[in-house]
Amino acid sequence: MSILIRNVQLNEKPTDIFIDGMLIRQIGQGLQVNADEIIDGYKKAVFPGFVNAHAHAAMTLFRGLAEDLPLERWLKEKIWPAEARHTDETIYWGTKLACLEMIETGTTCFNDMYFRPKMAYQAISEMGLRAMITDTIFDFFEPERAEKAKRMTEENLKLSQVFDSTIRYSVAPHAIYSVSAELFKWSADFAKANGLIMHTHLAESRQEYENSIKDFGLSPVKYLHKLGVLSPNLSLAHMLWIDDEDIQILADYDVKVVHNPQSNLKIASGYEFKYEEMKQKGITVCLGMDGCASSNNLDMTEGMKLASLLQKAWRFDPTKLPEKEALDMATVNGAKTFEINAGLVKEGYLADLILIDLNQTSFTPNHNTIANLVYAANGSTVDTLICNGKILMKNRFVNGRQTIIDNAIEAAKIIKG
Ligand SMILES: [Zn+2]
Repeated sequence: MSILIRNVQLNEKPTDIFIDGMLIRQIGQGLQVNADEIIDGYKKAVFPGFVNAHAHAAMTLFRGLAEDLPLERWLKEKIWPAEARHTDETIYWGTKLACLEMIETGTTCFNDMYFRPKMAYQAISEMGLRAMITDTIFDFFEPERAEKAKRMTEENLKLSQVFDSTIRYSVAPHAIYSVSAELFKWSADFAKANGLIMHTHLAESRQEYENSIKDFGLSPVKYLHKLGVLSPNLSLAHMLWIDDEDIQILADYDVKVVHNPQSNLKIASGYEFKYEEMKQKGITVCLGMDGCASSNNLDMTEGMKLASLLQKAWRFDPTKLPEKEALDMATVNGAKTFEINAGLVKEGYLADLILIDLNQTSFTPNHNTIANLVYAANGSTVDTLICNGKILMKNRFVNGRQTIIDNAIEAAKIIKG
């Protein structure tokens, strides 16, 4: 399959883009090539597809189910009991709904930290997105549960051998308050031995930080450092409760960090995300939308705007996290974190692209396309989405949309109980 996008705005200039197979092959004006499909890019701007670096996809079914509670109560009273009601069906339709929402708002790749990877795989591969999937590991400090988690992870990795190249298995211990030191170490060794990405929640709430000091005598980052699990293939979600020493440690090990502004604000985990200090140390910071129980949508344009405004506000400095850096956070930094040759509109890169409709009020006038995308637009301005060289949405049409919505409504009834 080959695609030619004619006359589209790239970096504020019109160009053609030729995609063949899964790659961007040629970029230039007036390309003389034959293509299976031609897309008219007039009054559209091309951007790399967003990389949602921390997601719990099937939690779309939890949207509006547990509002306005602190993290511990939110997890223990609402989320974990509802998660116990998950079936293969709820994971499948919840993940399909998440993929639909992500396609409609410009995300081409996501890091899914959830359960029942077989069902997640089926849903994501049908929708055509790129993803990391996992079966999140917990042991609650019980050795028997740790052994079960290990066997489950080994088994899942074997099953993942048949996955399409667009979907990779990863290792994801839940958090330091739900996973023992022993299981954390095993997870890191397993990830390393099998060349897998590892991902966890860390330093999310004040309570987690204080318990870490009380239980381990160390900050969450220093605790993981002591366990010997820090490495370039590790990405950490949230990361609000960290100090300068922690940041230096993260930089030394080239650990990646995921910022989750919506979820952090809504659960009131904190807002003083130390982007500037991390940037100065060269740490790769990407953007995640977390689950829909705490961020309520998966629109990365909203994430970019919030991330940028938050930096400006808590620093009392409007120069912080400018629009281009917010865009990088949502695209190329995520691609780097998950070792994917994407995140830039460039020859030889994966054809994971979005076309934005410039004929919208939020892009009028268009003095600065990136500023309009980050500060003015929302995800509904995404007109067309291409992932791995395949068109998943064109002129806002996604195949099978109504079936997904109807089935997700039914599946949400199971979750509600
Ligand atoms: Zn999360």
